[in-house]
Amino acid sequence: MAKKYEGCAVGIDLGTTYSCVAVWLDEHNRAEIIHNEQGNRTTPSFVAFTDDQRLIGDAAKNQVATNAENTVFDAKRLIGRKYSDSVVQKDRMLWPFKVISGVNDKPMIVVKYKGQEKLLCAEEISSMILTKMREIAEKFLESPIKNVVVTVPAYFCDAQRKATVDAGAIAGLNVIRIINEPTAAALAYGLDKRSNCVGEKNIFVFDLGGGTFDVSILTIKDKVFQVKATGGNTHLGGEDIDNRMVNYFVDEFKRKNKVDITGNPRALRRLRTACERAKRVLSFSVVTTVEVDSLFQGIDFFSSITRAKFEEINMDIFNECMEIVKSCLTDANMDKSTVNDVVLVGGSSRIPKVQQLLQEYFNGKDLCMSINPDEAVAYGAAVQAALLSEGFQNVPNLVLRDVTPLSLGLSATGDIMNVVIPRNTCIPVKITQSRETVADNQPDVLIEVYEGERTRASDNNLLGSFTLSGIPPSPRGYSFNVCFAIDENGILTVSATDKSTGNMNEITITNYKERLPADEIKKLIEEAKNYGIEDKKFLRKAKVMNALDYCVYKVKNALKQPEPNSKLSSVDIDMINSAITVASNLLDSSQQVEIGVLKSHLKELESMLERIITDKKE
Ligand code: ADP
Ligand code: MG
Repeated sequence: MAKKYEGCAVGIDLGTTYSCVAVWLDEHNRAEIIHNEQGNRTTPSFVAFTDDQRLIGDAAKNQVATNAENTVFDAKRLIGRKYSDSVVQKDRMLWPFKVISGVNDKPMIVVKYKGQEKLLCAEEISSMILTKMREIAEKFLESPIKNVVVTVPAYFCDAQRKATVDAGAIAGLNVIRIINEPTAAALAYGLDKRSNCVGEKNIFVFDLGGGTFDVSILTIKDKVFQVKATGGNTHLGGEDIDNRMVNYFVDEFKRKNKVDITGNPRALRRLRTACERAKRVLSFSVVTTVEVDSLFQGIDFFSSITRAKFEEINMDIFNECMEIVKSCLTDANMDKSTVNDVVLVGGSSRIPKVQQLLQEYFNGKDLCMSINPDEAVAYGAAVQAALLSEGFQNVPNLVLRDVTPLSLGLSATGDIMNVVIPRNTCIPVKITQSRETVADNQPDVLIEVYEGERTRASDNNLLGSFTLSGIPPSPRGYSFNVCFAIDENGILTVSATDKSTGNMNEITITNYKERLPADEIKKLIEEAKNYGIEDKKFLRKAKVMNALDYCVYKVKNALKQPEPNSKLSSVDIDMINSAITVASNLLDSSQQVEIGVLKSHLKELESMLERIITDKKE
């Protein structure tokens, strides 16, 4: 049984477009999805920087129309990747924010915060979202949270998993386990526990989210989850569906008003927000309205759309999803009739047409959808978190085991990939191999660690390399050990030991090139804390500003209705009026004003208000 962690732990689905946090509730015997301060059960994975504050989640997404270059999203598409990666190069073209190459080819996001240029890596943005999710959970649980289980896509490689753990560390969190998203969803449904199926069970996970479509085939046997095949399209999801609606209404606007809004990014973004809302409504009603005040050149937009029309304009997207489902089964060499369960994941799987097509394809099979699809992954992560923590008693007793998604090995003479841990090996795992020197009197050996399925080592992904040195002079064939160990999070450590000398000449790869070194993480943790302090400072100041604004309003009102026998002299009134002017000026230029100055003016105005009121009473 895995080690138990102290206290309570939560599960976080750190999504590309939306994130979700859940916690196991002993008393209810289920996991609870925790809603944020806006009452939403998922929170946009957005972070925005402005002249005076940092915003995360709904607040960040809501202001994207006016601050596009400094509103960062899609950090999950960057995490653990290099700038020169073709995926990054393609995505970069689509983002309104700037990404440049940093040290070691690390992609860095450029934003303007408080008037200054800032460079941030994907781990930092993800850490900010994790911090937000943690705050949401802490508010609900009324206690601090340290331990979390975070989910990642099944196809995430080692570097991407490690970078996700780093993001947690920057947020001051202890990531007690990284689990695969489809595995988490299957866990949410307790599919591993069903006893009516002897032997192996096949699960098809259909995850249509905001910007990505992932399908996975899992098998469960003796509580071990194996990812048999994955497929999908990394640029297909709810946002494409929103775009279809946007185009539909742009045409309508053109027809009705003879103006084209396509050249106006702000109008387009406002329309897109309205379309996303309408799309959600169409998942439970058959018709809805779309309204945007003063959309373009002062013209209000008001229209409606039926579910039938919505399905018509998106039909090719839905069909494409079904084609991907088919090809994933073909790749896995499986017939659809051998699938025991079909699990719906991702917000866009709420669309009735998507559910209908999928159910028809699986010959009318009931789909697992009793848990909201966009919450299933966080739900499963919460179950896993509870299993690993001491703080829960009433958790279904099961042991979940994952497998490595890709083979891991060393390059051997002639650029051959020498696999040490084959893909789909259950983790945790530790394998030691004996290796030999290839030349006489070879003083050191270069150990190169690769990940991938190609026969030529260099065609695979080089994870890192290190040198085992200090080998005593000896003919070729001198043997030493290389050990590959993967922990429960799927994180790899490679070490080499010179066993003959008995010396602990051991090197462990813990920090790959693209990983953040420990001191860098430390620095980022400090910076993250500073961001938090600045956010709080901003909030405190905003509260004082609100109070001052309200006080000005009250004083003005009180002056408007002077009592006939008021003791206020005209000198008093002039003084009050000038205090109002000062306060209004302070509010207008509040960015440059210290909170203390605002506070003292608030106090002054409050006492004036009191005087006006008591004078009136007398
Ligand atoms: P991610 O892809 O980041 O993991 P989600 O699984 O939460 O995120 O999916 C987000 C997408 O789901 C968004 O495009 C959102 O508009 C869409 N969505 C959420 N609720 C609904 C709904 N009721 N009907 C249709 N689409 C929805
Ligand atoms: Mg998701």
